[in-house]
Amino acid sequence: MNFTVNKEFILDKAKELLEFHSPTGFCFEIMELIEGYAKDFGYSFERTNKGNGIITIEGKSDERVIGLAAHVDTLGAMVRSITSDGTLKFTLLGGPIPATMDSEYCIIRTRDGRKYTGTFLSTSPAVHVYSDAREKKRDPDNMEVRIDEVVKNKEDVEALGIRPGDFIFLDPKTTITESGFIKSRFIDDKGSVAALMGLLELFNREKIVPKYKTKIIISTYEEVGHGSAYIPKDITELIAVDMGCIGEDLSCTEYDVSICAKDSGGPYDYNIVTELVNLSESNKLDYAVDIYPFYGSDAGAALRGGNDIRTALIGPGVHASHGMERTHYKGIENTVKLLTLYLAN
Ligand SMILES: [Zn+2]
Repeated sequence: MNFTVNKEFILDKAKELLEFHSPTGFCFEIMELIEGYAKDFGYSFERTNKGNGIITIEGKSDERVIGLAAHVDTLGAMVRSITSDGTLKFTLLGGPIPATMDSEYCIIRTRDGRKYTGTFLSTSPAVHVYSDAREKKRDPDNMEVRIDEVVKNKEDVEALGIRPGDFIFLDPKTTITESGFIKSRFIDDKGSVAALMGLLELFNREKIVPKYKTKIIISTYEEVGHGSAYIPKDITELIAVDMGCIGEDLSCTEYDVSICAKDSGGPYDYNIVTELVNLSESNKLDYAVDIYPFYGSDAGAALRGGNDIRTALIGPGVHASHGMERTHYKGIENTVKLLTLYLAN
């Protein structure tokens, strides 16, 4: 197959998605953006009760229906309580590395839509004052959010309309370098969502019709384990498109599409994994096959949801996951290429 992936389009969408706040449980606004992308390319879009988006690409045959699932929900935080000093205690959404949140800027969004800026800090934030400023463990018990408003006590904070249960958005600090790196929080899994938007752009531009009907699920609540627990009943196989891991014992890099053979939920479907490896090999894609020790995917959620499907997991390699992440455009491009080859083959 001869096709070109649209780098400019993908990087543009990646930036837009990464900068759009969508912590798990707060994805209804970003889903409108995704609905817009799908409709721009003439694909139908539906929303499940839970708020997942489903984009359908008609295929040459309905004999099988292939699902692709990427999650648009991210890690984040929520107001747990307001202290008597006028700072906020918080609870984590999903599993960010708390140490990486120290000194990060954030936005507190009240339930009536007001927004205030703030900063995550240790409760011993100044070296001139606290002997344990350097060593204090960074976790929610020892951290708080300093609000950029004149607040001296709990009542002042309440007067701003801030309450327990309000979302706190972390600044993703999205930066795309001339050298093609995307560095940002939440490339897991918006790097893959951008890849799937790139796939729509490619299929629309090149008039590619997949062999089988294809449903792209943009899931919410993946970071808390049940993103794609429900999938449309006609799906016969589901490929989770989610970040590849990089580090000790792993061969994946930021330039590769990762093919996961096994994660915490056990092995993926032998035949799909083999086909993905063979396609990567014969088309000279940069790819890696790895085993992820601490990882669960939307494919696993769908299996545990009782769906009788074959599953796989692929995605761009992402460095420093759940911290300050980074990938390279090449990793996304290889992901789009492998998906295209798999669907159109
Ligand atoms: Zn993920």
